[in-house]
Amino acid sequence: MCAKILDGRKISKEIRNDIIEQVQHLKDRYEVAPGLAVVIVGDDDASHVYVSMKEKACQKVGFHSEVYKLPKETTQEELLKLIDELNASKKIHGILVQLPLPKGIDENLINSHILPTKDVDGFHAINTGKLLLGEESFIPCTPKGILELIKRTGENLTGKHAVVIGRSNIVGKPAGVLLLKENTTVTICHSKTENLEKHVQMADIVVAAVGIPELIKGNMIKEGAIVIDAGTRKVNGKLVGDVAYEEASKKASWITPVPGGVGPMTITMLLENTLKAAKAQCE
Ligand code: NAP
Repeated sequence: MCAKILDGRKISKEIRNDIIEQVQHLKDRYEVAPGLAVVIVGDDDASHVYVSMKEKACQKVGFHSEVYKLPKETTQEELLKLIDELNASKKIHGILVQLPLPKGIDENLINSHILPTKDVDGFHAINTGKLLLGEESFIPCTPKGILELIKRTGENLTGKHAVVIGRSNIVGKPAGVLLLKENTTVTICHSKTENLEKHVQMADIVVAAVGIPELIKGNMIKEGAIVIDAGTRKVNGKLVGDVAYEEASKKASWITPVPGGVGPMTITMLLENTLKAAKAQCE
Protein backbone atom coordinates (compact mmCIF):
# COMPACT_ATOMS: atom_id res chain seq x y z
CA MET A 1 0.00 0.00 0.00
CA CYS A 2 1.12 3.54 -0.71
CA ALA A 3 -0.43 6.04 1.69
CA LYS A 4 -2.42 9.07 0.60
CA ILE A 5 -1.10 12.26 2.10
CA LEU A 6 -3.18 14.26 4.55
CA ASP A 7 -1.99 17.67 3.44
CA GLY A 8 -2.35 20.02 6.42
CA ARG A 9 -1.39 23.07 4.36
CA LYS A 10 -4.06 22.44 1.72
CA ILE A 11 -6.79 21.64 4.25
CA SER A 12 -5.79 24.70 6.30
CA LYS A 13 -6.08 26.91 3.26
CA GLU A 14 -9.64 25.70 2.63
CA ILE A 15 -10.62 26.33 6.25
CA ARG A 16 -8.89 29.73 6.33
CA ASN A 17 -10.77 30.83 3.17
CA ASP A 18 -13.99 29.99 4.96
CA ILE A 19 -12.81 31.95 8.03
CA ILE A 20 -12.10 35.01 5.84
CA GLU A 21 -15.73 34.96 4.64
CA GLN A 22 -17.03 34.64 8.19
CA VAL A 23 -14.82 37.51 9.39
CA GLN A 24 -16.29 39.72 6.66
CA HIS A 25 -19.77 38.74 7.78
CA LEU A 26 -18.92 39.68 11.38
CA LYS A 27 -17.47 43.01 10.27
CA ASP A 28 -20.54 43.78 8.14
CA ARG A 29 -22.99 42.84 10.88
CA TYR A 30 -21.29 44.06 14.08
CA GLU A 31 -18.39 46.21 12.85
CA VAL A 32 -16.10 43.91 14.82
CA ALA A 33 -12.97 42.03 13.80
CA PRO A 34 -12.08 38.95 15.86
CA GLY A 35 -9.23 39.99 18.16
CA LEU A 36 -6.45 37.71 19.39
CA ALA A 37 -3.86 38.71 21.99
CA VAL A 38 -0.72 36.60 22.17
CA VAL A 39 1.55 36.99 25.16
CA ILE A 40 5.11 35.71 25.16
CA VAL A 41 7.51 35.89 28.08
CA GLY A 42 11.26 35.47 27.63
CA ASP A 43 13.44 34.93 24.61
CA ASP A 44 13.00 31.31 23.56
CA ASP A 45 13.70 31.39 19.80
CA ALA A 46 11.25 28.63 18.82
CA SER A 47 8.44 30.27 20.82
CA HIS A 48 9.09 33.61 19.10
CA VAL A 49 8.85 31.87 15.70
CA TYR A 50 5.49 30.30 16.67
CA VAL A 51 4.19 33.66 17.89
CA SER A 52 5.13 35.45 14.69
CA MET A 53 3.45 32.66 12.65
CA LYS A 54 0.27 33.16 14.68
CA GLU A 55 0.44 36.93 14.24
CA LYS A 56 0.84 36.61 10.45
CA ALA A 57 -1.99 34.07 10.22
CA CYS A 58 -4.28 36.49 12.13
CA GLN A 59 -3.44 39.36 9.81
CA LYS A 60 -4.07 37.25 6.69
CA VAL A 61 -7.63 36.37 7.70
CA GLY A 62 -8.47 39.94 8.80
CA PHE A 63 -8.28 39.53 12.57
CA HIS A 64 -7.21 42.26 14.96
CA SER A 65 -3.97 41.02 16.50
CA GLU A 66 -1.99 42.19 19.53
CA VAL A 67 1.34 40.67 20.56
CA TYR A 68 2.88 41.33 23.97
CA LYS A 69 6.58 40.47 24.16
CA LEU A 70 7.62 40.55 27.81
CA PRO A 71 11.14 40.18 29.22
CA LYS A 72 12.11 36.96 30.98
CA GLU A 73 12.29 38.87 34.29
CA THR A 74 8.51 39.47 34.16
CA THR A 75 6.86 38.43 37.44
CA GLN A 76 3.77 36.29 37.78
CA GLU A 77 1.91 39.29 39.24
CA GLU A 78 2.78 41.44 36.20
CA LEU A 79 1.57 38.72 33.86
CA LEU A 80 -1.67 38.28 35.83
CA LYS A 81 -2.24 42.06 35.61
CA LEU A 82 -1.81 42.03 31.83
CA ILE A 83 -4.28 39.14 31.57
CA ASP A 84 -6.76 41.15 33.68
CA GLU A 85 -6.49 43.99 31.15
CA LEU A 86 -6.91 41.64 28.19
CA ASN A 87 -9.86 39.91 29.88
CA ALA A 88 -11.51 43.34 30.11
CA SER A 89 -10.60 44.52 26.60
CA LYS A 90 -13.53 44.83 24.16
CA LYS A 91 -11.16 44.46 21.19
CA ILE A 92 -9.76 41.14 22.37
CA HIS A 93 -11.90 38.00 22.06
CA GLY A 94 -9.16 35.40 22.51
CA ILE A 95 -6.04 35.29 24.69
CA LEU A 96 -3.11 32.94 24.28
CA VAL A 97 -0.09 32.79 26.56
CA GLN A 98 2.73 31.08 24.70
CA LEU A 99 4.20 28.12 26.59
CA PRO A 100 6.63 27.31 28.09
CA LEU A 101 6.77 30.12 30.63
CA PRO A 102 9.98 30.94 32.54
CA LYS A 103 10.63 29.18 35.86
CA GLY A 104 8.80 30.80 38.76
CA ILE A 105 5.59 31.37 36.78
CA ASP A 106 2.82 28.83 37.38
CA GLU A 107 1.42 27.86 33.96
CA ASN A 108 -1.79 26.41 35.38
CA LEU A 109 -2.44 29.56 37.40
CA ILE A 110 -1.86 31.74 34.33
CA ASN A 111 -4.05 29.59 32.06
CA SER A 112 -6.83 29.59 34.63
CA HIS A 113 -6.68 33.38 34.94
CA ILE A 114 -7.77 33.80 31.33
CA LEU A 115 -11.56 34.10 31.10
CA PRO A 116 -12.90 30.70 29.93
CA THR A 117 -14.81 32.57 27.19
CA LYS A 118 -11.49 33.98 25.87
CA ASP A 119 -9.47 30.78 26.40
CA VAL A 120 -8.89 29.99 22.72
CA ASP A 121 -6.07 27.55 23.57
CA GLY A 122 -8.56 25.48 25.58
CA PHE A 123 -6.19 25.02 28.53
CA HIS A 124 -8.44 26.53 31.26
CA ALA A 125 -9.62 23.92 33.76
CA ILE A 126 -13.24 24.77 32.91
CA ASN A 127 -12.72 24.06 29.21
CA THR A 128 -10.72 20.92 30.00
CA GLY A 129 -13.54 19.71 32.25
CA LYS A 130 -16.21 20.50 29.67
CA LEU A 131 -14.27 18.58 27.02
CA LEU A 132 -14.22 15.57 29.33
CA LEU A 133 -17.95 15.92 30.00
CA GLY A 134 -18.68 16.18 26.28
CA GLU A 135 -19.99 19.74 26.66
CA GLU A 136 -19.41 22.63 24.26
CA SER A 137 -15.96 24.11 24.99
CA PHE A 138 -12.78 25.47 23.48
CA ILE A 139 -10.80 22.44 22.33
CA PRO A 140 -6.99 22.68 22.42
CA CYS A 141 -5.76 23.54 18.92
CA THR A 142 -3.39 20.65 18.16
CA PRO A 143 -5.77 17.78 19.07
CA LYS A 144 -8.61 19.66 17.37
CA GLY A 145 -6.48 19.84 14.22
CA ILE A 146 -5.58 16.16 14.55
CA LEU A 147 -9.26 15.18 14.67
CA GLU A 148 -10.04 17.39 11.69
CA LEU A 149 -7.29 15.67 9.68
CA ILE A 150 -8.61 12.22 10.65
CA LYS A 151 -12.15 13.22 9.64
CA ARG A 152 -10.89 14.45 6.27
CA THR A 153 -10.03 10.83 5.36
CA GLY A 154 -13.77 10.27 5.12
CA GLU A 155 -13.37 6.93 6.94
CA ASN A 156 -16.04 5.75 9.37
CA LEU A 157 -14.32 5.98 12.75
CA THR A 158 -16.86 4.06 14.84
CA GLY A 159 -15.39 0.92 16.38
CA LYS A 160 -11.88 1.61 15.10
CA HIS A 161 -8.95 1.17 17.46
CA ALA A 162 -7.05 4.43 17.99
CA VAL A 163 -3.64 4.40 19.65
CA VAL A 164 -2.36 7.74 20.91
CA ILE A 165 1.30 7.89 21.87
CA GLY A 166 1.87 10.70 24.38
CA ARG A 167 -0.30 11.81 27.29
CA SER A 168 0.40 15.52 27.66
CA ASN A 169 -2.43 17.82 28.69
CA ILE A 170 -2.11 19.80 25.47
CA VAL A 171 -1.93 17.02 22.85
CA GLY A 172 -2.12 13.34 23.87
CA LYS A 173 -4.84 13.38 26.55
CA PRO A 174 -7.31 15.66 24.71
CA ALA A 175 -6.66 13.77 21.45
CA GLY A 176 -7.65 10.57 23.28
CA VAL A 177 -10.83 12.17 24.64
CA LEU A 178 -11.82 13.50 21.20
CA LEU A 179 -11.28 10.10 19.59
CA LEU A 180 -13.34 8.42 22.31
CA LYS A 181 -16.16 10.84 21.51
CA GLU A 182 -15.96 9.62 17.90
CA ASN A 183 -16.69 6.09 19.14
CA THR A 184 -13.21 4.73 18.58
CA THR A 185 -11.63 2.45 21.18
CA VAL A 186 -8.71 4.40 22.58
CA THR A 187 -5.37 3.27 23.96
CA ILE A 188 -3.06 5.97 25.31
CA CYS A 189 0.64 5.08 25.50
CA HIS A 190 3.41 6.95 27.31
CA SER A 191 7.00 6.63 28.43
CA LYS A 192 6.17 3.84 30.91
CA THR A 193 4.15 1.78 28.43
CA GLU A 194 5.51 -1.73 28.03
CA ASN A 195 5.87 -3.08 24.52
CA LEU A 196 4.83 0.03 22.62
CA GLU A 197 5.27 -1.83 19.36
CA LYS A 198 2.55 -4.37 20.24
CA HIS A 199 0.04 -1.57 20.95
CA VAL A 200 0.82 0.40 17.81
CA GLN A 201 0.59 -2.73 15.64
CA MET A 202 -3.08 -3.09 16.66
CA ALA A 203 -4.00 0.47 15.72
CA ASP A 204 -6.37 1.44 12.91
CA ILE A 205 -5.52 5.03 13.80
CA VAL A 206 -2.11 6.08 15.14
CA VAL A 207 -1.60 9.50 16.70
CA ALA A 208 2.02 10.15 17.63
CA ALA A 209 2.66 13.08 20.00
CA VAL A 210 5.97 12.40 21.70
CA GLY A 211 8.86 14.43 20.30
CA ILE A 212 11.26 11.51 19.64
CA PRO A 213 12.31 11.48 15.99
CA GLU A 214 11.14 8.36 14.12
CA LEU A 215 10.14 6.48 17.29
CA ILE A 216 7.36 4.78 15.31
CA LYS A 217 8.86 2.50 12.65
CA GLY A 218 7.20 1.17 9.52
CA ASN A 219 7.02 -2.38 10.91
CA MET A 220 4.85 -1.09 13.79
CA ILE A 221 2.15 0.18 11.44
CA LYS A 222 -0.85 -2.02 10.64
CA GLU A 223 -1.67 -2.34 6.93
CA GLY A 224 -4.20 0.40 6.04
CA ALA A 225 -3.85 2.44 9.25
CA ILE A 226 -4.39 6.21 9.41
CA VAL A 227 -1.17 7.77 10.75
CA ILE A 228 -1.10 11.25 12.27
CA ASP A 229 2.28 12.59 13.31
CA ALA A 230 2.20 15.59 15.66
CA GLY A 231 5.83 15.22 16.70
CA THR A 232 8.36 17.84 15.72
CA ARG A 233 12.03 17.86 16.52
CA LYS A 234 14.89 19.62 14.72
CA VAL A 235 17.55 17.17 13.53
CA ASN A 236 20.47 18.71 11.64
CA GLY A 237 18.37 21.78 10.96
CA LYS A 238 15.49 19.72 9.53
CA LEU A 239 12.09 19.18 11.16
CA VAL A 240 11.51 15.48 11.86
CA GLY A 241 8.36 13.78 13.15
CA ASP A 242 7.78 10.85 15.52
CA VAL A 243 7.04 8.49 12.62
CA ALA A 244 9.54 7.05 10.15
CA TYR A 245 7.66 8.57 7.24
CA GLU A 246 9.02 6.65 4.24
CA GLU A 247 8.61 3.22 5.89
CA ALA A 248 5.20 4.03 7.38
CA SER A 249 3.90 5.38 4.04
CA LYS A 250 4.26 1.89 2.57
CA LYS A 251 1.84 0.45 5.15
CA ALA A 252 -0.59 3.26 6.01
CA SER A 253 -3.67 4.24 4.02
CA TRP A 254 -3.32 7.90 5.05
CA ILE A 255 -0.39 9.75 6.59
CA THR A 256 0.53 13.31 7.60
CA PRO A 257 3.91 14.73 6.55
CA VAL A 258 6.23 16.65 8.88
CA PRO A 259 6.32 19.54 8.23
CA GLY A 260 3.02 20.34 6.51
CA GLY A 261 0.66 18.07 8.45
CA VAL A 262 -0.44 18.82 12.00
CA GLY A 263 1.55 22.10 12.34
CA PRO A 264 -0.50 24.28 9.96
CA MET A 265 -3.72 22.77 11.33
CA THR A 266 -2.82 23.88 14.86
CA ILE A 267 -2.69 27.53 13.81
CA THR A 268 -5.84 27.17 11.73
CA MET A 269 -7.70 25.75 14.74
CA LEU A 270 -6.50 28.74 16.79
CA LEU A 271 -8.09 31.01 14.19
CA GLU A 272 -11.29 28.94 14.32
CA ASN A 273 -11.40 29.14 18.11
CA THR A 274 -10.83 32.91 18.05
CA LEU A 275 -13.60 33.38 15.48
CA LYS A 276 -15.90 31.25 17.64
CA ALA A 277 -15.02 33.37 20.72
CA ALA A 278 -15.67 36.61 18.81
CA LYS A 279 -19.05 35.37 17.53
CA ALA A 280 -20.09 34.27 21.02
CA GLN A 281 -19.09 37.65 22.49
CA CYS A 282 -20.92 39.61 19.76
CA GLU A 283 -24.15 37.65 19.67
P1 NAP B 1 5.37 16.44 26.08
O1 NAP B 1 4.57 17.25 27.03
O2 NAP B 1 6.84 16.37 26.22
O3 NAP B 1 4.78 14.94 26.11
C1 NAP B 1 5.42 13.90 25.45
C2 NAP B 1 4.70 12.61 25.76
O4 NAP B 1 5.41 11.55 25.13
C3 NAP B 1 4.64 12.28 27.26
O5 NAP B 1 3.34 11.86 27.60
C4 NAP B 1 5.65 11.14 27.42
O6 NAP B 1 5.28 10.20 28.40
C5 NAP B 1 5.55 10.50 26.05
N1 NAP B 1 6.77 9.73 25.76
C6 NAP B 1 8.06 10.09 25.94
N2 NAP B 1 8.88 9.11 25.55
C7 NAP B 1 8.11 8.09 25.13
C8 NAP B 1 8.38 6.81 24.63
N3 NAP B 1 9.62 6.34 24.48
N4 NAP B 1 7.34 6.02 24.29
C9 NAP B 1 6.07 6.46 24.43
N5 NAP B 1 5.74 7.68 24.89
C10 NAP B 1 6.77 8.49 25.25
O7 NAP B 1 5.11 16.90 24.58
P2 NAP B 1 3.82 17.55 23.88
O8 NAP B 1 3.74 18.97 24.26
O9 NAP B 1 2.65 16.67 24.05
O10 NAP B 1 4.30 17.47 22.37
C11 NAP B 1 4.54 16.23 21.74
C12 NAP B 1 5.18 16.48 20.39
O11 NAP B 1 4.25 17.20 19.60
C13 NAP B 1 6.45 17.34 20.44
O12 NAP B 1 7.33 16.92 19.42
C14 NAP B 1 5.94 18.73 20.13
O13 NAP B 1 6.94 19.53 19.54
C15 NAP B 1 4.85 18.41 19.16
N6 NAP B 1 3.80 19.44 19.07
C16 NAP B 1 3.50 19.86 17.84
C17 NAP B 1 2.53 20.81 17.69
C18 NAP B 1 2.20 21.26 16.33
O14 NAP B 1 1.49 22.22 16.18
N7 NAP B 1 2.67 20.58 15.31
C19 NAP B 1 1.86 21.33 18.80
C20 NAP B 1 2.17 20.84 20.06
C21 NAP B 1 3.16 19.88 20.18
P3 NAP B 1 5.24 10.55 29.98
O15 NAP B 1 3.95 11.29 30.17
O16 NAP B 1 5.28 9.24 30.63
O17 NAP B 1 6.44 11.42 30.26
